[in-house]
Amino acid sequence: MYLNTKIEDLAKRLGIAYFGVADLSNALDTVLNQGGDIVKGYPYSISLGIPLLHSIVDQLPNRHQRAAALNYKHHAYDIINQRLDITASILSSFIQEQGHRVLPIPAAERIDDERICASFSHKLGAGLSGLGWIGKSCLLITPEHGPRVRWTSILTDAPLVPTGKLMDERCGDCIECVNICPVNAFSGRAFNCHEPREARYDARKCEKYFNKMEVRSKSAVCGMCLYICPYGRK
Ligand code: SF4
Ligand code: SF4
Repeated sequence: MYLNTKIEDLAKRLGIAYFGVADLSNALDTVLNQGGDIVKGYPYSISLGIPLLHSIVDQLPNRHQRAAALNYKHHAYDIINQRLDITASILSSFIQEQGHRVLPIPAAERIDDERICASFSHKLGAGLSGLGWIGKSCLLITPEHGPRVRWTSILTDAPLVPTGKLMDERCGDCIECVNICPVNAFSGRAFNCHEPREARYDARKCEKYFNKMEVRSKSAVCGMCLYICPYGRK
């Protein structure tokens, strides 16, 4: 527990609000299937999360206006991702100095254009560490901030203590994210760890929508599935 506490204290001092540790043996096939050799040999993931500013997210219904879109891209994406990446780098150096293998995953990364995914799912790591559940929007929903949190992850073989397990989903009958998506990217099915993501979410529809926006404007922004969730708007 000593190492957990040291890393969490350091993370909190660097402005991290959400800290969790997941035992990846519970989802090894999924992790290896997504990341392959890059992520092999790391039994734990550390999740770091920073809540988004409500004043920025609440501008999303006006996202077709340039100011709202630029504000969101800057403060809800670029700046927060930089804060997460810098923190992950500092913590990784610390863990390496303690004699362990460590791999920080970029906050925003795509390694596979076909499957539209990164080498490691930040949402999966944060979920497995007990920080929330996977909603019908396929976003990680926290009880306190809903999906209004941006995440990054550090993989390591340091002997850490897991902080929890995936919460039971609390979406209930809500389908607000499903209804608001302009391209019907969600099927409305609740998360089931035995089903592939495609059963719930068609990432291509979302991507095509963004590509179309980019043709028309330089600041393609949506995020309405994130904006609408009642757990984040309360
Ligand atoms: S970002 Fe927009 S288009 Fe993409 S899934 Fe969410 S609501 Fe749909
Ligand atoms: S909007 Fe409703 S259904 Fe969608 S993730 Fe949030 S609680 Fe779940």
